Amino acid sequence: MSKPNHIVIVGGGTAGWMAANLMAQAWQSQGIKITVIESTRIGTIGVGEGSTPYLRQFFHRLNIPEAEWMPACHATFKCGISFPDWSTNKGYENYFHPFYSMIDAPNAPLFFENCSYRRQGSDVFAHPNDFFVTSKLAQAKKSPIAATPPRKPVEYGYHFDAELLGQYLAKKALEKGVNHIDDKVLSVETIADGSISHLITENSGELHADFFVDCSGFSGLLIQQTLGEKITSKKGYLKCDSAVALPTPLNLQNNVPSETVSKALKYGWVWNIPLTKRFGNGYVYCSDYISKAEAEAELRQHLGMENSDAKAVHLHWQPGRLENHWRKNCVAIGLSQGFLEPLEAPMLYLVQRTTENFIAYFQHENFNSDLKTRFNREINLLIDGTVDYLQAHYKANTRDDSQFWIDCRENTCMSPSLSAILSGWDESRNFEMVMQEQANTQVYQRASWYCLLAGMGRFKPISEADNNVNKNRAEQNHQNANQDCTAQSEVFIAHNEHLRTMT
Ligand SMILES: Cc1cc2nc3c(=O)[nH]c(=O)nc-3n(C[C@H](O)[C@H](O)[C@H](O)COP(=O)(O)OP(=O)(O)OC[C@H]3O[C@@H](n4cnc5c(N)ncnc54)[C@H](O)[C@@H]3O)c2cc1C
Repeated sequence: MSKPNHIVIVGGGTAGWMAANLMAQAWQSQGIKITVIESTRIGTIGVGEGSTPYLRQFFHRLNIPEAEWMPACHATFKCGISFPDWSTNKGYENYFHPFYSMIDAPNAPLFFENCSYRRQGSDVFAHPNDFFVTSKLAQAKKSPIAATPPRKPVEYGYHFDAELLGQYLAKKALEKGVNHIDDKVLSVETIADGSISHLITENSGELHADFFVDCSGFSGLLIQQTLGEKITSKKGYLKCDSAVALPTPLNLQNNVPSETVSKALKYGWVWNIPLTKRFGNGYVYCSDYISKAEAEAELRQHLGMENSDAKAVHLHWQPGRLENHWRKNCVAIGLSQGFLEPLEAPMLYLVQRTTENFIAYFQHENFNSDLKTRFNREINLLIDGTVDYLQAHYKANTRDDSQFWIDCRENTCMSPSLSAILSGWDESRNFEMVMQEQANTQVYQRASWYCLLAGMGRFKPISEADNNVNKNRAEQNHQNANQDCTAQSEVFIAHNEHLRTMT
């Protein structure tokens, strides 16, 4: 495809500014003009405080050190996510989902082996928490950065203030020469072939460009409202469609957790995210089962804030995704592409991948419409693979305290891939085969699936014909892994101490 002279990004939320930075990095030296237009009057969504390790790669690509961006965004380190109360199985009421790292390579196979014995009915230890170094770090509120070099690298993500991250990325993009207009887009004009020709703004007249990036959030101003792309609903798979958020105080003098806590409540789950100046909290629930007021009351009770006049923020969405993220001369990035839900915090990774793939395809020498089709298919695979992993949390829950949890567990609306994973796990023998078959299509890899399913104790009852050979070996596996993970975790520093050195 011939390179455009001018790209306009509509939207200055996290997606808009992430895209602006990556595109400026790739194209500015070639003289391509990039403009971000946003309306500060409309504002941004203001949530989205957790990331996966891919955000490290984003900052690495932009050559921005942690010591610079983290304090500016009140950011903390994230070793993984713990999941209290999704399961009521004895001994499995909480589990930790680590970001699988090279340092875990010797111990992960021991965990998989123990899971295999336990899935066959042997009475062996198969809870993930003792088999991963970052699990120990999170338990001890340690940073994933070591005082002396660890055996192998440790993967980690971050927590950050979404508003501050947007402002920080805006500053970096402007330094790279990106133009910025604070104005409202009133309408989007197209030409005969359906492509976008220009935007009509409230105060800045017409804005012409060769290519347009829709980062306008849930409104999907360009891709949905103008080009007519529809959101394909995923509500059949993922019921949660609403959230209510409330911050609580945090004192950096105390130990600061290095994990997100995603704790199940009666009609959904609540996130607890430590930043350097506050905790972010939010209750994600399904509006078919409770009202906004009931959800807020449950969150306030959970946080002990029944008598506080702090204002809660309510959000609602339709879980789903676009079929075509790139159509005509427009690509959608961020919430305009659709949104599933905040569980496992995968959405900024989607922003990153969509932008990076778009850049790679767009500058392809032999660009043709097949590449655009391939791009759309890849993004859809990424989102649908994420749906599988998120839905598996709900399928594996064992709660009976509301119809919501029972309906989630009994939900038969599932992709064939998730169905194969769950039956592969339950049928005890062929889970590894299913994992191999899906290795290239699943977004979450083997260790994540093991942690989720074993972590919730999705095992058949202990069998009478227990195998003592397995038991002895499994006991050894557990002891070795636990000792090794504990020893490895010794060289890492306390999270709050580390954060204090950065501020
Ligand atoms: C409850 C909740 C929790 C979440 N938690 C996480 C998480 O932990 N981790 C994660 O990765 N993601 C999370 N997300 C998703 C994450 O918030 C978004 O992916 C991310 O913030 C990107 O949003 P955005 O930039 O696409 O949209 P927005 O932040 O909504 O930005 C839209 C932009 O478009 C502009 N705009 C809109 N209309 C116009 C117009 N007419 N003219 C000019 N400008 C306009 C707005 O002013 C704004 O600048 C969460 C989402 C929700 C709803």
